[in-house]
Amino acid sequence: MAEKISENKERDTDIEKSIADSMGIPSDFIMENAIDGVIQLKEDGKILKTNSHAQKILEIPETGLPAESIYDLIPPEYHPLLKSRIREQLNPTTETQIEKEEDLFLFRCLTGNNKHKSFEAIILPYKQGSERTFFLNIWEPESNSEKLVDQLKEVQKNYESLSETISEAVIIIDESFKIIYANSATIRVFGYDKKEITGKSFETLFPEELFKRYAPDIRKYFYVDFDDRKEINIDDHMELLARNKNRGVSPIEISFGNSREFHERTLTCIIRDVSHRKNIERKLRYLAYHDKLTDLGNRDLFASDITSLFEQMSSGSISNAALFFLDLDGFKQVNDTFGHQAGDEILIDTAQRLRDTLRESDLIYRFGGDEFVVLLTKVNEKKDAELVARKILASISRSFVIDQDGESNQASIGVSIGIALIPDHGSDHDTITKNADLAMYSAKENGKNQFVVFSEDLTHSAKNKWTIEQGLKSALVRQEMFLEYQPIHTNGEGIAGVEALIRWEHGTRGVIPPDLFIPAAEENGMIIPIGLWVLDRACMDIRLLNRKLKTNLFLSVNISTKQLMLPNFPELIDGVIKRTGLDPRLMKLEITETFLMEDPEKISRTLNRLKKEHPGVTLIIDDFGKGYSSLSYLSRLPVECIKIDRDFIRNIPDPINMKVISSIVNLADNMDLSMVAEGVETEEQLNNSILKKCHFIQGYYYSRPLRINKLVDYIKNQ
Ligand code: C2E
Ligand code: CA
Ligand code: CA
Repeated sequence: MAEKISENKERDTDIEKSIADSMGIPSDFIMENAIDGVIQLKEDGKILKTNSHAQKILEIPETGLPAESIYDLIPPEYHPLLKSRIREQLNPTTETQIEKEEDLFLFRCLTGNNKHKSFEAIILPYKQGSERTFFLNIWEPESNSEKLVDQLKEVQKNYESLSETISEAVIIIDESFKIIYANSATIRVFGYDKKEITGKSFETLFPEELFKRYAPDIRKYFYVDFDDRKEINIDDHMELLARNKNRGVSPIEISFGNSREFHERTLTCIIRDVSHRKNIERKLRYLAYHDKLTDLGNRDLFASDITSLFEQMSSGSISNAALFFLDLDGFKQVNDTFGHQAGDEILIDTAQRLRDTLRESDLIYRFGGDEFVVLLTKVNEKKDAELVARKILASISRSFVIDQDGESNQASIGVSIGIALIPDHGSDHDTITKNADLAMYSAKENGKNQFVVFSEDLTHSAKNKWTIEQGLKSALVRQEMFLEYQPIHTNGEGIAGVEALIRWEHGTRGVIPPDLFIPAAEENGMIIPIGLWVLDRACMDIRLLNRKLKTNLFLSVNISTKQLMLPNFPELIDGVIKRTGLDPRLMKLEITETFLMEDPEKISRTLNRLKKEHPGVTLIIDDFGKGYSSLSYLSRLPVECIKIDRDFIRNIPDPINMKVISSIVNLADNMDLSMVAEGVETEEQLNNSILKKCHFIQGYYYSRPLRINKLVDYIKNQ
């Protein structure tokens, strides 16, 4: 190759000289004295003149050129290349010197015989009067050196042995798309043996119809060199559908490398079968956007759909739509009564009922749990949306059949629906979903199993509830939760321990007491991470406090049933103990009496498992007396302590109240349970004889709940 280039260089310098000398010398003279074919062009490609050598190699007939512009003679894929070369000559940079190898380019041109022929070329500027013109110097590529042919053969051999080592099919085609080389891996991708396919058309490897579309794009790769691809926006590879000899159509990916061999251009195609990858991609994409259980779209699919809906609205192709937020009523009870599997079946059935009720054009999603979302893309008026809501209500309220252990049960659930109209109630994702959600809350507030269309004057309480639920989701991350500790005294003596009580410092609404958000957190599941945070934080705080003050205070923590229901609750407590290093004998878990009644068997198993692992941990029944737990049931639980509900203490010394407390106290005493009196505010309450049997006293009489640093002061002052 080197020889050839230097030969061209000489030629270039000759021309350069002739141009340098050409001031005032007519272009005819230069052109006829050039050894190349020369075509004189205007900037826009209009052909001004051709020299006789050009006429010869382009086989131009007596009648002259068949075109006025050079671009009419050149296949479209070469146009950008020629244009960019002309542009470079208009704005020459220091790098564009004609000696440079890359200035020499290869292109194809239509000859007088209506055949395409390859040429090598350079572009040179020539100023004619005040006009800028260009000489396109062309010559036929030659490769007559025997040494060169030998070298090429050598390269070819190396190339072949290399291409045999890779797992991709390597196929080389010529400009007529004839396969001139194929490696052994071709059989793996296409089912054809390399001998069998060599000499055949590349088209054999594709469905006919498709190949017609592919061919022009593939052809580009012949002529656009690797480095020029970026400039004219061509990718390094194409993804196509190919036809395998045995297996039908499958997706492939081709990378291209073009080369110029002798007179012809060839194209090396490196081909991978990507059907495996495509399948996985498709599956992953589907999984990412769909709910596994019901096969409905998920939150992410909804987000993408609603975004494109708003786009369609701003372009005017859709004018009205409606968004429904659905939340099943009574699903939790069914789930708790009949188990998760029955719950899952109801969700699947619900999805099917929604599909049956709605039109093809309506979109249905499941956001998780028992929340569904419907997007109606074709609704004109509020009353249309209401009609659909009524249909949904009717369809969901039909009873669900649950087959369990060969027995067939019926369950009925309802649905609360919140409706927001688009664009009336919002024209962006956040506003419209918030408003549909708010309307849904309002439907729940109004007594469930109904729909509510959003309006600005939705009840305050729905908004409040919504604000709390939404805020809960990020409260932990934003570190808005903190703990207070209320001292618990040994009756008549000093402090013995503390109860951890959670607080929420809401961004805009100040401190929210637990009664206002714990039920919501239990409903939306946030109680699990929140409860774990409380355990970790409190155990850590009290362990450090005990070490610092050389005390041995116990710690009482409130546990929600949701936490108790976790199958790994004992392991979770074990983890807390190991992480925080609190002596398990100082840990007390408070479980509300009413909660204990929800699933006694399961709770009893869990608590027994916990006690087996950590016998030192004490279980306390909180708010005792409020519920009506049976004695026999209580005796089966590994409980050591009860906390008498605040209400009984407050009502001291009311006579009826006193009767109830004394029966509670006697009961606990008989069962050898220790007792805590909670909510003791006055000296009178404290001194009432009934409390003499209580081991511990807690209440404002001693102290309100305190932040940890205030608790330290409190203990020091004792
Ligand atoms: P609880 O477990 O019965 O907690 C005792 C409540 O009584 C606390 O209210 C406490 O501030 C209040 N209290 C204590 N002494 C007196 C008194 O002398 N007079 C009066 N009137 N009240 C007194 P708080 O902190 O508002 O907690 C309310 C409930 O929230 C708790 O009732 C408990 O059920 C729940 N809770 C608090 N923290 C947590 C927690 O970390 N996890 C869970 N699951 N629930 C918690
Ligand atoms: Ca408590
Ligand atoms: Ca209590």
